[in-house]
Amino acid sequence: MQILFNKPYITGKELYYISRAHEMGRLAGDGDFTANCHHWMEQNSGCSRALLTHSCTAALEMAALLLNIQPGDEVIMPSYTFVSTANAFVLRGAIPIFVDIRPDTLNINEKRIEAAITFRTKAIVPVHYAGVACEMDEIMAIARKHDLFVVEDAAQGVMSKYKGRALGGIGDLGAYSFHETKNVISGEGGALLVNRPDFVRQAEIIREKGTDRSRFFRGEVDKYTWQSAGSSFLPGELIAAFLWAQLQEAESITQTRLSAWNYYHELLAPLEALGLLRRPIIPTECQHNAHMYYILLPEQKDRQSVMDGLKAQQINTVFHYVPLHSSPAGQQLGRVHGNMTNTDALSAQLIRLPLWIGISQTQQERVCSILDNLLMNP
Ligand SMILES: *Cc1c(COP(=O)(O)O)cnc(C)c1O
Repeated sequence: MQILFNKPYITGKELYYISRAHEMGRLAGDGDFTANCHHWMEQNSGCSRALLTHSCTAALEMAALLLNIQPGDEVIMPSYTFVSTANAFVLRGAIPIFVDIRPDTLNINEKRIEAAITFRTKAIVPVHYAGVACEMDEIMAIARKHDLFVVEDAAQGVMSKYKGRALGGIGDLGAYSFHETKNVISGEGGALLVNRPDFVRQAEIIREKGTDRSRFFRGEVDKYTWQSAGSSFLPGELIAAFLWAQLQEAESITQTRLSAWNYYHELLAPLEALGLLRRPIIPTECQHNAHMYYILLPEQKDRQSVMDGLKAQQINTVFHYVPLHSSPAGQQLGRVHGNMTNTDALSAQLIRLPLWIGISQTQQERVCSILDNLLMNP
């Protein structure tokens, strides 16, 4: 029997809320369901304002507009990330400056950031890989010292914490994803978390086509007009209705995923002890959300042969990012600072295992025993 890599989880209330939105006849964005989602994220993260967007990509693009990123500005980020982290800034003419990752969490190496700062640097974009937090205290201290903005790409970090603080709620801005492949989903979807009260008004304007329509709806102005450059970043109410069902279950979604994550961790401990793979490392200050379970193979091991071996037993696994600095666009549009040793080595050795709500312990045991066979008897 086939074991899928991912299976989107449905709470059961999505269609009910969608039908409610339909009955209320309010289908454009910023209706009651959007307000519920905003309120939930504000409560959960402590941000000044949460704004639903149609994707995390859109939230990152909003961030670049909000920070008034200009052509030639430099933005420091890991190369081991999804394309949207860089694209959002490239669209404004900025240059992504890639620095290497830490070997333990595969997050940006905070010790490498300061040396990459120039007079053109505008922002740092830490990416919380697998929902495990970057070293935010140090990153925030560097940013304050050099007067830089911090935009957290917390696409994978909904419900994760760093020293008790929600990811996305620590930098100046944070971006969430509710894409089908994440933990809490709405098909496509995302949010911008605005952590600085002085940015809230402009964020609302950018999201509403450059108008002050949000203030108009709250009765703060008697007509709305074009205020600045902006676009349409808000999702319709049907998406928000779906997401509301998911957010209400976010705690149980996280707990269920954590159980499956912990079970892999336990099952794979013996293989790690034999030096046949490395399991994820979670620093003590990070409470993660079990977004992903990955393994790292030893450098001499051929990853494709292991994935093929799993596939032959109907187990679907996937690798992850091709580092941006080695992609065609990354080479043309970005720049590397320092060596990329960990990025190059670790990205080539990583395999993500099936993890979704509903995967059984028996299925997880099968994944691990086949992995065991493949690694013990090459
Ligand atoms: C998923 C993801 C994104 C993009 O999210 P969308 O909602 O699909 O736009 C951006 N950055 C990271 C790190 C991601 O994992």
